[in-house]
Amino acid sequence: MPASFTIIGGGIAGLTTAIALQRSGIESTIFEAAPAIKAIGAGLALSANALKAFNRLEMVKAVTEQGRLLDLFTVYDEKGKPITRVDSRVLGEKYGIGNLTIHRAALHALLHSKIDPSVIHLNKRLTSLDQKADHVVLSFDDGSTHTTNFLVAADGVHSAVRSYLLPGALPRYAGYTCWRAVIDNSGLQLRETSETWGQKGRFGITPLAGNKIYWYACINGPQNDPRFRQYKVSDLLKHFGEFHAPIPVILQQTKDEDLIWSDITDLKPLRRFAYGNIVLTGDAAHATTPNMGQGGCQAIEDAVVLADELRDASDVPAAFRRFEQRRLKRTHAIVNTSRIVGKVAQWENKWLMGMRDFMFRQLPRSVNERQMKALFEVDFE
Ligand SMILES: Cc1cc2nc3c(=O)[nH]c(=O)nc-3n(C[C@H](O)[C@H](O)[C@H](O)COP(=O)(O)OP(=O)(O)OC[C@H]3O[C@@H](n4cnc5c(N)ncnc54)[C@H](O)[C@@H]3O)c2cc1C
Repeated sequence: MPASFTIIGGGIAGLTTAIALQRSGIESTIFEAAPAIKAIGAGLALSANALKAFNRLEMVKAVTEQGRLLDLFTVYDEKGKPITRVDSRVLGEKYGIGNLTIHRAALHALLHSKIDPSVIHLNKRLTSLDQKADHVVLSFDDGSTHTTNFLVAADGVHSAVRSYLLPGALPRYAGYTCWRAVIDNSGLQLRETSETWGQKGRFGITPLAGNKIYWYACINGPQNDPRFRQYKVSDLLKHFGEFHAPIPVILQQTKDEDLIWSDITDLKPLRRFAYGNIVLTGDAAHATTPNMGQGGCQAIEDAVVLADELRDASDVPAAFRRFEQRRLKRTHAIVNTSRIVGKVAQWENKWLMGMRDFMFRQLPRSVNERQMKALFEVDFE
């Protein structure tokens, strides 16, 4: 009998891993806690590195059709004066592949459509596991159990599998909290992707396919603040109402019920992702703050690398370790850089903000390009 593979979590990491494994000739079973495979959240940026991974899965055309190619990305100050600008088109032309933005629901639906529905088990929250030398026993909140030879943990930043292996590795709060929503762009007709760094917070705007806009707003504050839980659009207007156009109008056009709120967290880089017959992937392994738009992209890269290492592997734990070796350095660099970018972008001190904006304005375009190039370069083509 062939060895059995189980994936915990039907998010971007779990679904993409199932697709990639299938292409390597490995059938897997997915257990997902939610009653449906559905994305929570609004929009998502998929950089060229993620598109290269989708290219490996022969899905790049389908993903691109659901997305919107990103051209310019500009950072403004709150008065609307540019601080820095990256031209994705130039990079796209140079490296043959661009960046795009996509509605999370569209990406999820596409990933879901590529997997045999009979291997996805919903309403199955993993509550505990028991790792043995040659198998793992999984227990779920409905009282059922499942035994597997190999386990891929793709259960997100609050991973139950990681808690079992590393009880001390808890998500850490980044110091700011975030609201986001998708609204109609018909009246606004915005085309530019931008982020605005102001004293009272940070506001991002990303046009999506289908004439929609995804926006996000981050403000500094304590974790899990009950005040923020109650925030409505009118509260956000108190922070961002004085920001340059079209930010106040975007907020005015957002309905309270469409607001999604969450504190921003990440995971201090782990030393290992592979633990014998269990491997951690996606946010369970290397959750990062969203400042570089790379969390989902790294989960997609993980899927391709893991499937590469598992193809024809006779020793699966060794393949898990090779996956770990290929993924540790890159994901650590992203987690650390993204955390710093977030801190700097959220500065509230006027003097520091002035220095920051001045320095960014002096940076030659080649510096931005070099950073983007490093992100685009994956160790698979
Ligand atoms: C505000 C914000 C903006 C972001 N923007 C971007 C962006 O532009 N680009 C980008 O690439 N990334 C972005 N990210 C990061 C991205 O959302 C995550 O990195 C990505 O969703 C991780 O996917 P995942 O599958 O590892 O985890 P998740 O998406 O968290 O999926 C985990 C899945 O596991 C399930 N699960 C959890 N626990 C259990 C359990 N015990 N048993 C069974 N199932 C379980 C969950 O229900 C869920 O379906 C952003 C994140 C945030 C917070």
